[in-house]
Amino acid sequence: MGQLSLKNVVKTFGDFEVVKRISLDVQEGEFVVFVGPSGCGKSTLLRMIAGLEHTTAGDILIDGNRVNDLPPVKRGIAMVFQSYALYPHMSVYENIAFPLRVERAPEKEIREKVEAAAAILHLDSRLDQKPGNLSGGQRQRVAIGRAIVRQPEIFLFDEPLSNLDAALRADMRIELTRLHKQLSTTMIYVTHDQVEAMTMADRIVVLHDGHIAQVGAPLALYHKPENTFVAGFIGNPRMNFLPVTVQSASDEGITVEFQGQSLTVAVDVPADRRAALAGTQVSLGIRPEHISLGAGNAVIKITPTVVEHLGQQTIGYAKLPDLEDNFCFVLPGTQMIMDDQSVNVSFATSDCHIFDSDGQAFER
Ligand code: ATP
Repeated sequence: MGQLSLKNVVKTFGDFEVVKRISLDVQEGEFVVFVGPSGCGKSTLLRMIAGLEHTTAGDILIDGNRVNDLPPVKRGIAMVFQSYALYPHMSVYENIAFPLRVERAPEKEIREKVEAAAAILHLDSRLDQKPGNLSGGQRQRVAIGRAIVRQPEIFLFDEPLSNLDAALRADMRIELTRLHKQLSTTMIYVTHDQVEAMTMADRIVVLHDGHIAQVGAPLALYHKPENTFVAGFIGNPRMNFLPVTVQSASDEGITVEFQGQSLTVAVDVPADRRAALAGTQVSLGIRPEHISLGAGNAVIKITPTVVEHLGQQTIGYAKLPDLEDNFCFVLPGTQMIMDDQSVNVSFATSDCHIFDSDGQAFER
């Protein structure tokens, strides 16, 4: 159990449509992450699944039952918030026990469930303490414990790690992945952090401006982004998008002109689109980590304006003609280059992506 279906789900606030006809199926036991920039509607969508926001149109089904009109407690879900929402005057034990007390569960059942959750979350030795004496990570674990004792069909997480520092966030990512393996319960997780999405998700749902930009396994989104939005959002530093002109399109792919060089990128172009593509502007996408020093299929002479030496890698930024953003490249940290030093960098056409004038990718 724990299957979720969204069917043409819409949310409007006044005249403002923040969730635009979203349809999605989440399988039992899946870890699905909703990711997207601030304001894309991911929290609103999660809150609709939870029953904390009214659904303007469309249907939400949990295990095949329409839950639109059910209150949160009747939906078989448990939600964990960014703010932890703990009661400061209660012990860790009582905070975790709280939902069971509301249900008037027998004392023995409460003790068993709280102790089981505390063991999973390594909170056994903290049960008598107050939240004020715990670290941020431990407090978030108490909040998760309170969700676990309810034995929900689906866990909902709303940016649960945002208040933690970078090192703790990394630890908690591992903890949450372990928890998911141990419980095998469906989890839906909202974040704006692509690292959380990439590391924890079975499938990522990238949201953009109230609609789904792409759904897929983390590496599928990285290797085969369907549009410039996903290509730019997944991957850090972000993909470079170089404006180029199409010379021809054929069975072999698309040949573009880039700084006096002819580059053929092996993508599928439907036969009926080929003739019209010649002479048009498209975007050549190349990730910074796919650029290296020296010779390759495509060579660019650049003079980086800024070079960041991070130890394990060196990140360079340069201005290119016709490119508004900085051109970015990532080299191994062992390769020392300096700003204002002119160098040849190159990339392989097999690492390139091509996007049409609407930002849609040609399939690689
Ligand atoms: P963030 O990461 O910043 O929380 P988000 O992707 O989760 O962003 P939502 O919180 O879902 O975005 O908000 C989507 C849009 O809906 C935003 O423009 C927000 O201002 C608007 N919005 C959210 N709640 C309300 C509300 N109660 N009344 C009016 N507008 C709202």
